Amino acid sequence: MDSGFVDCHCHISAQEFEEDLEDVIQRTKEAGVKTLVAVTEGVGEFERVLQLQERYPDLVAPCFGVHPLQVDGGLEQRSVKPQIGLDFTPWCAPSQQDKDDQLDVFIKQLSIAQELQLPVNVHSRSAAKVTISTMRKQGISRALLHNFAGKPSVALEGVKAGYLFSFPPAVCRNQQRDKLIQQIPLEHICLETDSPALGLEKHVRNEPRNITLCCQHIADLKGVSPETVKVVTAENAYRLFPKVSRR
Ligand SMILES: [Zn+2]
Repeated sequence: MDSGFVDCHCHISAQEFEEDLEDVIQRTKEAGVKTLVAVTEGVGEFERVLQLQERYPDLVAPCFGVHPLQVDGGLEQRSVKPQIGLDFTPWCAPSQQDKDDQLDVFIKQLSIAQELQLPVNVHSRSAAKVTISTMRKQGISRALLHNFAGKPSVALEGVKAGYLFSFPPAVCRNQQRDKLIQQIPLEHICLETDSPALGLEKHVRNEPRNITLCCQHIADLKGVSPETVKVVTAENAYRLFPKVSRR
């Protein structure tokens, strides 16, 4: 059954889309995208995402989170001093204390998800190993690791735990993640765009319609048709997000 594409991680509520949102949505639909999992980075965006869901009920599925380090917004909007996940890149977590603070908040967010019986859509950067081991320790069974860039051996630990991995069009820029994608079974892969970021070209606004690019790239790496990647990744996404009804 062709259920179309599911963009498992995009920021359709971003300012970058405000001006020509109608056109962006039109192109999204024309590309065959059936669901946009609309991820937030901060509390300030929750309302906007709900409005978008009301405006496009067949397309937009809200996914609320608070980024590990929010640079803007007031203190009350921040998860750690300044999305759910861990960002251990040196400029985000210069000290061990910063990492520990992120970890505390991450564990709290994981327990909220468990309480509400929701899957988690996780950002991890330079923190793949800790992210996966923390989720396993906390007994998380349903998780998507978005824009994953850890080692294949670490990813396979996540596969064992039943986790899914999504990749944006930026993976087509070079061959850095080809081996990683080849090693993760297709049954554990989802598609995402992370638009407006992580497109094919740096500094050019990315759109959900570009999901076809990562689909083609993954198909080439796996030696299967893009149609297969589309169908299997959509099945994976609907299994992970059962509250999102098939379109
Ligand atoms: Zn994102």
